[in-house]
This record gives sequence, C-alpha cells and structure tokens, in this order.
Amino acid sequence: MLTARLTNRLAEHKAARRDRHHRLRSLASQTRTRINGQDVVAFCSNDYLGLADNPRLVTALEEGGRRFGVGSGGSHLISGHTDAHRRLEDTLCELTGRSAVRLFSSGYQANLAAIAAFSERGDTVLHDRLNHASLLDGARLSGAKVTRYRHGDIDHLTHCLARDRPLLTVTDSVFSMEGDCAPLSAIAGHCRAHDSALMVDEAHAFGVIGDYGQGAVAEAGLTESDVAIVTGTLGKAFGTQGAFVAGSETVIEALTQFARPYIFTTGLSPALAWASCEAITIARTEGERRTHLKDLIAHFKRELPATLQARLLPSETPIQSLVIGDEADALAVGDALWEQGLLVGVIRPPTVPMGTARLRITLSSAHRHEDLDRLIDALSQCGMHKTCTEASV
Ligand SMILES: *Cc1c(COP(=O)(O)O)cnc(C)c1O
Repeated sequence: MLTARLTNRLAEHKAARRDRHHRLRSLASQTRTRINGQDVVAFCSNDYLGLADNPRLVTALEEGGRRFGVGSGGSHLISGHTDAHRRLEDTLCELTGRSAVRLFSSGYQANLAAIAAFSERGDTVLHDRLNHASLLDGARLSGAKVTRYRHGDIDHLTHCLARDRPLLTVTDSVFSMEGDCAPLSAIAGHCRAHDSALMVDEAHAFGVIGDYGQGAVAEAGLTESDVAIVTGTLGKAFGTQGAFVAGSETVIEALTQFARPYIFTTGLSPALAWASCEAITIARTEGERRTHLKDLIAHFKRELPATLQARLLPSETPIQSLVIGDEADALAVGDALWEQGLLVGVIRPPTVPMGTARLRITLSSAHRHEDLDRLIDALSQCGMHKTCTEASV
C-alpha cells in the first residue's frame, strides 16, 4: 500500500516538474568547480566569503578532531559538550553582543527549536510572509497559531500586531530567495510597542553585513531588549556547518531546558566547532573579503543589461534574484546557462510564490570579475530574451 501510494505521489510530482535532483560536485571549490563531470563556474552556494575550502579551516578541523574527537558522542546535556563548543559559544556571544548562545547542528534545527521552545498551543507567532520554511515549521511542533504579514510591510505588520497580539514576531534579516533586508529598526519599535518578542534569523547576514560581519541586528544597534532572539547558521558565510541561537540568559536557559530539538539529538561535531571558531576569526578580521564581495555586487547590478526579459529584485546583498515568472522558462534559462558552463539556482514554487520562478544568483568573494562577466554575457546573449527561451524549451 505504501509503495503504491508513493509511486503515485512521485509520478504527480514529476509530471508537475517539481522533482529535484542531486548534482555531484567533485572539487572543493564552490565557484570554479566540477559538477557532474563538467567544469563550471557556479553561482549558487551560500559560501559568501569563500571560506568553505579555506586551508586554515581544514587545519583547524584536523586539530579540533585530534583534541576533542570528530563526533561529540552524545547530546550536549549528557556528554557531548566540549571545550571546543564552549569556545565557539563564547566567540558567538562576542560576535552577536548577546549574553548567551546555544549551538545546534543546523539552522533548520535551531529555528525549529527556538520557536517550539518559546511558544505553546494558544499562542500566536507572527511571520513575514517570505520567512524561511524552518521558521514556519517551528510552530507546527509547538502547536502555536501562525499568522503572516505582507513581506516587509510595516503598515500590515502593525495591523497584525494589534489584531493577533502575537507572543513572538519573526523575520529573516536578509531574505534567502530575494536578498532584500527587513526594516529591522521599525519592526523592533512596533514589536516593543505591542509587547511582542522579536526573533530575527540572520542566516544570510552573519559574515556579510556589518564591518566585522556581525550581522544586521548588531549593525542596526539593536540590543537584547529590542531583539530577544537571534539565530544564525555556520553553514553559509562562515563556510562550516552548524548553527546557533543567541539571547539573554533567561531565553537561552529556557531553550536548553525546553527545546526538544536540542535535548534529543547528538551534539554538534567538536571538530567542526573548533573549525568554526577559526572561520569566525577569519570572517571578522579579513574585511577585504567583504570589500571584494561588495565590488562584485555593484559590478553585477551595474553591468546587467536593462533589456532582459526578467526582473532583478532590489538587493544590496550577495543574493541577486532574477524573476522570470514561468517555471518552464526559468528551467530553460537554467539549462541554457549550464550548456555554457555556468550554474545558477533555478528556484520554483513552492519555495517561492506561484508565478515568480527565478534564477537565484549568489555571489562569493571567491568569484572574480571575469566570472561575473561570463555570466552577464551569457544572460544577455542567450537564455533571457523570450525568443531564445522559447527556442531552448
Ligand atoms: C539556510 C537557512 C536556514 C537553515 O540553515 P541550515 O544551517 O542550512 O540548516 C535557516 N534560515 C534561513 C533564512 C536560511 O536561509
């Protein structure tokens, strides 16, 4: 019975062209790399500072493994918590300016844990409409009710705050599929006025936003009393893996005691925790990586021709989204770029709203200007003009 049902669901999924497939990368580089045996320049990783294959991180990973082990061997509250984890928590407290930090194995888990631990059945959690899936899923675990305000819309936010009286209001600081930034100071002000605790997911902001990569919350000067909960991942600009939740002593103690996704799982690898300390040091101190990244972002926005049959979403971050609209068109453009040795993310519903299929182009300080020029040329010549798109379908 199960197999028959799954076979049907898979067939429907495939007929709707919603099926996704792995690509095999066979080099350490995230930018000039080899995928499915083909040499390509890739514009789809979240390794914004080019740290994922950094030799200093590889060395730190080895050292961490030797000193504390590769695996943690248990949950953080039994035997899995090491000096490496403590050091990473201290490093993250310093970076975020928060009193306390808890570590997780992924950002998905950290968001799930925070929302599940802080809300209960009968509470309302208010979200920006375009928040990451992990934030929405947290409320499923706690049984809290979810309501949503229109993306970045302060008037609608205040309306929902007054109507729903949410315990918790949640937003991404940099939106993962759009690249735009939430108006954090305004959101914080309204949340304070309505006594709703604010939680900000800084997955795409840490390492990238602020002079030291301290994130959008710290950059905006928002303190623990403005933003009660900050979450971040180590798997994006920091180039490793794992995640964290930062907040006051009370918030973090509650997370430790109540979050099932913290309690019932093996602790983060101590070797990775050690490497992550090194990653944060590099991200903080090597400001030239952010400078180069800013140059690339400006270059891309300036050089992309205005004649494209696609809309570049407003973004000052390394996430540059070209909205094509139709799913088949977006897939065709992605294929045409691939033929030219260029890989970009083709993002379709349900990840993004219906009718807004897009190319998600992510820039990294590991890119060179000529990599970008190749992409811009290819976008100009091929894929993006309607006739070309139709020809390649
Ligand atoms: C990627 C992402 C996450 C999940 O982080 P992982 O460490 O990859 O699990 C959470 N929130 C946002 C906004 C993200 O983009």
